[in-house]
Amino acid sequence: MEKLKYRFLWTWDHSTNWSDKNISIQEKGSRNPYHKNPDIFLEDYYLLIDFMKSMDLNGLIIWGFLRDSHGGISYARKIIEYAHKKNIKIIPGIGLGAYGGIYYDGENKYNLRYHILKNPGLSGIDKNGNKRNDILCPSKKENIEWYLEGINWLFDNFQVDGVNLETGDYGICWCNECKKRRGENETFSTEDIKVYLPIIEKINKKSKGSLITVGLYIPPFDKAIEEFLTLPEYIIPQWRLTEIIEKPPINYIKQTKKFKKIFFSLPQKEQIGFFHQGSQWFLNTRHECVVKSIYNGVKLARELNLSGLITHGEVSSKNPEWFLNYLAFSYFTKFDAQLEEFSGILNKYTGGYGKTFLSLLFSGTNRKKLSTSIDQAKKYLSKFPQGEKEYILWYYLLQELYRRIYLLDQWR
Ligand SMILES: [Zn+2]
Repeated sequence: MEKLKYRFLWTWDHSTNWSDKNISIQEKGSRNPYHKNPDIFLEDYYLLIDFMKSMDLNGLIIWGFLRDSHGGISYARKIIEYAHKKNIKIIPGIGLGAYGGIYYDGENKYNLRYHILKNPGLSGIDKNGNKRNDILCPSKKENIEWYLEGINWLFDNFQVDGVNLETGDYGICWCNECKKRRGENETFSTEDIKVYLPIIEKINKKSKGSLITVGLYIPPFDKAIEEFLTLPEYIIPQWRLTEIIEKPPINYIKQTKKFKKIFFSLPQKEQIGFFHQGSQWFLNTRHECVVKSIYNGVKLARELNLSGLITHGEVSSKNPEWFLNYLAFSYFTKFDAQLEEFSGILNKYTGGYGKTFLSLLFSGTNRKKLSTSIDQAKKYLSKFPQGEKEYILWYYLLQELYRRIYLLDQWR
């Protein structure tokens, strides 16, 4: 298979920064408040969607999709409308038991906090037995019913193309019933998916063919993948590939035969992968060029026969490191190519010197070699007028090489 079917980007609304009108920006955190002007929300996403179209990427996951503070229902609809004109799918993040529920933030019946405010008895509790206002107890059937109603509301009111479900990695309910179901000491929530199965079935019934992606915090080689053996085939598990596309010690996960066998016997027809390189979620690399990790990620996705891959979409392509990341993601998910072949497409943006650009980018950490690379990068930079796209990329490369040599001297 050449082109991957799903070539998606993943975002939190509050840290998606594409508009030039952003005067202060958030680059960290999840579940943050939204402080920008609602019109900037639209502009950030319109610019992102325009760029996705130019890169032939076809789906966008948005956490914090529905919020009172950025235009609520009407602005969410505008985003969908805009994306659909460009054939891009919109997939809102929906928290199961956490992460705001269906309406992420605001006074709406299907916002989780609002629901708990109106029904205090339905909240989840923490380890010490205290009530939480941001976590639901999934053992209470009223909460499942609330979700079922909410799914009707969501699909009746929005032309969304699917959902990105998460059961919450930061907080789960510790009531006796939940503990009994999950196991006394389990802090992890993969098996909690089963308690939410009626909601998944409802989505499938309500909107046949919509993508039901389930965000997981585990790699495809983990005992917990067994949970999926008995789950419906239309679910799309979203595996964490972050560690397993790197070398040790970052990769600490053993791809044992036993788990491989389970993985390849899962009934789910489509599966996708997600990795966190190039973001605040992985070694503070939000502003780094991670072309090699992207290449590794796509290579693994092909080996595992995944239907698609997700990378981050929060940083504007005006930043050269992310322009290169998006370009690589687009290229490798489209063509089953080697890393070196990427230079062909880079030619278009580097004045025809893609091969040299890549070789300098990967010139390692030898001081002498870096020094030579700097001289070369300077030479190429001088060929282009300031502000041109070629100039921007060569300038980035030169700065990157300076940064490496600087850091090298810090370590010696
Ligand atoms: Zn509970």
